[in-house]
Amino acid sequence: MQSPSGPPPSPVPGASGQPETTPAADASSGHRRIAIFGDIHANLEGLEAVLADAEEQGCNDYICMGDVVGYNANPVECLEKVRAMGCPVIKGNHDEDASGTHSLDSMNPVAATALEWTREQLDEDQKTWLRRLRMVRQIEDFTVVHSTLDQPSNWNYVTNRFDAMSNFSYQFTQVCFHGHTHVPRVYVKDGKVQEVPAESVVIEPGSKYFINVGSAGQPRDGDWRACYAIYDLTHKLIVFRRVEYDIETTQRKIRDADLPPMLAERLADGR
Ligand code: ZN
Repeated sequence: MQSPSGPPPSPVPGASGQPETTPAADASSGHRRIAIFGDIHANLEGLEAVLADAEEQGCNDYICMGDVVGYNANPVECLEKVRAMGCPVIKGNHDEDASGTHSLDSMNPVAATALEWTREQLDEDQKTWLRRLRMVRQIEDFTVVHSTLDQPSNWNYVTNRFDAMSNFSYQFTQVCFHGHTHVPRVYVKDGKVQEVPAESVVIEPGSKYFINVGSAGQPRDGDWRACYAIYDLTHKLIVFRRVEYDIETTQRKIRDADLPPMLAERLADGR
């Protein structure tokens, strides 16, 4: 809102040195900022909040780390939204299970119940799209995989630096992003492998990075807010973002769909 007696809306270009640089202006000047998000798990409110934040942050590219579906109540809406974006998407274990016909008996019963329900919601075309997703992709000079680069179809969980070591043996790019545990983490290999806090990471020459971007739709690190990462290629900088979303709506949809109530409860706990 501009009051009639207020100051003129824009300064004379160049009058005060450099113009104010907004992230969006950076983006239009060739600045590459990639939003890397995954483990959406059919949480439409989480996904929409992440995408809105990414746009506000000046992201001009997007990569989806898989597990678009499973657990929550909007598998069709999330799949169609991600598919319409036309961005690279890699396959998660829930994408594989939701698009298959194999038995889910060996799974955790709550996850299996949600996957059976998800199979009923998706049509053949949507299942084919999920089935055709690739397990690993190289984008620019980095790699993305849902679980790990050593045997990606085994869906191994990386919960400590020893798990990360096996991945590094197969990581031929300096940076690799993954998901799967729903916990943002940063592993750095610089001679030895160590875990560093999942805060801002500057990519230094000579080190390798294996980075879990957390979960947009079912965080499990005790923080209920949707999580994703932004990779600023120009500045070789990775930042994690936490975004509030309309969790009550997500929970109500889970209960209305008769999915296991604990799936709604766990969202609030971030577990
Ligand atoms: Zn997942």
